[in-house]
Amino acid sequence: MSELYELGVCAARAGLEKGEFSSEDLVKALIARHAEKNGEIGAYLTFDAEGALAAARANPKAVPVAIKDLINVKGQPCTCASKILRGYVSPYDATVVANLKKNGFICAGRVNMDEFAMGSSTENSALGVTRNPRDPSRVPGGSSGGSAAAVAADMAIAALGTDTGGSIRQPASFCGIVGLKPSYGRVSRYGVTAFASSLDQVGPMTKSVEDAAVLLQALAGHDEMDGTTPKEPVPDYSEAVRAASLKGVKIGLPKEYYAVAGVDSEVKRVTDEAIAACAAAGAEMVEVSLPHTEYAMAVYYIVAPAEASANLARFDGVRYGHRSARSDDVFNLYARSRAEGFGPEVKRRIIMGTYVLSSGYYDAYYGRASKVRTLIRRDFEAVFGKVDALLTPVAPTPAFKLGEVQDPLTMYLNDLFTIPGSLAGNCSMSVPAGQTAAGLPVGVQFICDAFREDKLIKIGRAFEEARG
Ligand code: GLN
Repeated sequence: MSELYELGVCAARAGLEKGEFSSEDLVKALIARHAEKNGEIGAYLTFDAEGALAAARANPKAVPVAIKDLINVKGQPCTCASKILRGYVSPYDATVVANLKKNGFICAGRVNMDEFAMGSSTENSALGVTRNPRDPSRVPGGSSGGSAAAVAADMAIAALGTDTGGSIRQPASFCGIVGLKPSYGRVSRYGVTAFASSLDQVGPMTKSVEDAAVLLQALAGHDEMDGTTPKEPVPDYSEAVRAASLKGVKIGLPKEYYAVAGVDSEVKRVTDEAIAACAAAGAEMVEVSLPHTEYAMAVYYIVAPAEASANLARFDGVRYGHRSARSDDVFNLYARSRAEGFGPEVKRRIIMGTYVLSSGYYDAYYGRASKVRTLIRRDFEAVFGKVDALLTPVAPTPAFKLGEVQDPLTMYLNDLFTIPGSLAGNCSMSVPAGQTAAGLPVGVQFICDAFREDKLIKIGRAFEEARG
């Protein structure tokens, strides 16, 4: 038999059901794996072994899941990988956490990320370095890099990540796992530290599409505490898994995505092979157009920093986390606590966001960006009248070396293919598709219309089978 820590969600559940092992056995296996591997990979920031064991004893059929360190779990730290929240302990459970606990999961271990989820490599973490398990000289991607690395290194059965512009999908691609970004509103954001409130979503990062479906089922649904979550019942995603097929499915290839310059040749090859595999499995591949794609990056880097500047105003040294010891009056307390607590990328976003919202610039930047965002959303709506899904690369390159990408703009370009769908609010998934000659994983992205996770899972699962 394989080691317990190698199991995914469905395999773990099957074994627990049959009584082959207990939740405590699973947690113990993960504790040992953590001791063996975390020094090298750095996926976890903290792992409360005692707490996880106690939860496992209380619920002998529960499956442990690693949690990105910006989601509140009662009694656990929630640092957002920032110095400003060092030492903070959550007084309550996020709705996603309460949902996990209700549905037979244990929140075991807190995983690293880019500070406040701003970044694409996890190098912006103020609290530690995370390495790509497939090549430790490379980044795991970001911002959910700890989640992806934990799952890929078999240090977690599955993990939760968050995605604002690509933070579930890009690290999933870099580490060779599945990452599903739900539609905006599918999953509650209550208790998830806000980065850009009109974009943020929590989603599963797993070893298979079926595992993602099971986890999404547990996470999704209406929440009184998040007004963007609709009341309609959540579809049964296990049905979508059973219905997995590409026969007669219409898949669009957005020509603007395929015209982007600078995409790595191996990423192109893997994407071409994925297209061929879909066609061979009976899908009809058609070229489509999303004409406003070229503006998505600019729109995102106005909207997301604007919302971040407002959301991060609450970290002022008074109510949460770090408080500067050098303050003699209240203005200096705010200014110094924030200057000492936030890292450079977070400061850059706050400054950009404050600028685009400021009087005299609001109409020129934020107002116009919001209008262009509507055009981007309409592009997708029009296309989903004609096709079931889109297939695109996830990121322009495979995982890069730690320290290799120094300038912010190059880092931002990682999310070229993931940002437009985030702005539109639809659902998408990164599925492992192949690897480079050097053995680095490469995923492809499937995108479906808002609230069509059922279709996304059906297609993703079938693709997994088609690729073998
Ligand atoms: N890399 C993008 C950014 O830095 C997206 C991050 C995310 O999805 N949280 O904003």
